[in-house]
Amino acid sequence: AHHTFDYPACPAENYWDSVYPDRRNRKVRILDIGCGYGGLLIQLAKHFPNDLLCGLEIRVKVSDYVKDRIKALQHNAKVEKASDSEDFSNLGCIRTNAMKHLPNFFEKGQLTTIFFLFPDPHFKEKKHKWRIVSDTLLSEYAYLLQPEGRIYTNTDVEDLHLWMVDCLTNHPLFERIPDEDLKDDTCFKTMFEATEEGKKVTRNEGSKWPAVFRRLPNPE
Ligand code: SAM
Repeated sequence: AHHTFDYPACPAENYWDSVYPDRRNRKVRILDIGCGYGGLLIQLAKHFPNDLLCGLEIRVKVSDYVKDRIKALQHNAKVEKASDSEDFSNLGCIRTNAMKHLPNFFEKGQLTTIFFLFPDPHFKEKKHKWRIVSDTLLSEYAYLLQPEGRIYTNTDVEDLHLWMVDCLTNHPLFERIPDEDLKDDTCFKTMFEATEEGKKVTRNEGSKWPAVFRRLPNPE
């Protein structure tokens, strides 16, 4: 199949007005890559009222669903006269291939947080190049993250977990944060159950393998 995607030539301000009609000078800081049906974004929205949260999703129908879901939440919040921090104006979703055009959307050091929740495992050796966490892509994610920014991963596939931990541990710009240090971390607490895939794994009594990494400062 041949896919075409609309993406900006560079991270220009005006592009974002269409994604976030009520942006109020805020910038995208939190990315959910392969966001699926958008459960994480919705749960996190009120915890980060000063940041924009953005879901990236490659499937048209799924990304359209997330956009509609966000519009409905924004509409209800308006009707119910919700406070600024609970109006869902900080949520957006873009249909794109996250493996291709990220630097067209975001500037160097713009992001604080990237999530990869229950990404497609691509089990076969030959398909490992399609994994969304890889050595090459990690350098791109490191470019977009500010120092002290974080990557959150979770999966029910142990082999994929080991692969992601291996890639991230071996990358010079990332360092693992032990799970014990994340007990009070909102993102960590949210990333087990908020998404549709996370809920499904719980229903099927599957295991979850989380791992969180810190973006280190650039070497001198
Ligand atoms: N994170 C969601 C969750 O936990 O429910 C969805 C998990 S689902 C197994 C993986 C998602 O990643 C699918 O919705 C898929 O369409 C999306 N995806 C796969 N490759 C992608 C890519 N290159 N760019 C953007 N999204 C992608």
